[in-house]
Amino acid sequence: MNNFGFKIIDDIKIEKEVFELIDYSNKNKLPMELAIYKEDKEMYERIIEKSQYLNTIHLSKNSKLYIAHKTFDQHKHIIFEEIKRGVSYGVYRFVLHPNDYNFNLSNTHYKDKIISLLIERLTEVNEFVNKLNSNKKVEIYIENMFDPIELFKELFKEIDNIKLDNINFCFDIGHAKVWSGTNLEEWIEFLDILKNKYNKKFHFHIHFNLGLGDQHLSFEEAVEQGMEDKDEYFSSSKKITDAIRNDLIDVYKDDTLVMEQNPKYQINGYEMMKNKKSVI
Ligand SMILES: [Zn+2]
Repeated sequence: MNNFGFKIIDDIKIEKEVFELIDYSNKNKLPMELAIYKEDKEMYERIIEKSQYLNTIHLSKNSKLYIAHKTFDQHKHIIFEEIKRGVSYGVYRFVLHPNDYNFNLSNTHYKDKIISLLIERLTEVNEFVNKLNSNKKVEIYIENMFDPIELFKELFKEIDNIKLDNINFCFDIGHAKVWSGTNLEEWIEFLDILKNKYNKKFHFHIHFNLGLGDQHLSFEEAVEQGMEDKDEYFSSSKKITDAIRNDLIDVYKDDTLVMEQNPKYQINGYEMMKNKKSVI
């Protein structure tokens, strides 16, 4: 199960937990994602130097596609610099949010405009990484945030049409539950199309939300807070942890799945999955 690992952040306040996860990942050869949310340069370098299996960087909050603003030209260098820095340390996978807020998809005019702006900006990112002098192909993963599955269906159809080969998909299972209005089964059908028809790669964020908002709970916290194994989003015929293991971890063996949860619960979460414990 070496496609399932941890997501950490460059936060000095949780240094002990972060380096415990790095040691565990090094010992067990498990992938890691580093999110540069605090933009602590010293912590970034220490993490990258220590971690042997860190393969993904989540770009900072300043790395945005600025869809509703005219400021992309002024800010795109931030995205490019963060990618260049990661590549210089031997990291080739980067996660990027499409926007800070949900898009206005209330009518076709806005929806088409949003897709075309996303495509315009992703084309620039795609071209930038193509020109980078790197040893390996650089992969960008666009993460589902507040928007419905239809947006991603249309976006990736266009990405395939114009062959933006470096743009892939980061599926956040918790965001999909609380914001997309679409159940996991339908998302998995979409992932299937991305994989088999469009030849896309994946990154996964695994965490739990009871339903009201984006809580990023671990397996243990979800149980403690009353999550039950009958959850419509996961399909009532399956235990939640079984769905994650059987439908995601066991299927996307060549991709990377990370727990996007409080670091103190992540090792236990990994061991539960490894030992096939159905906790929820
Ligand atoms: Zn996420």
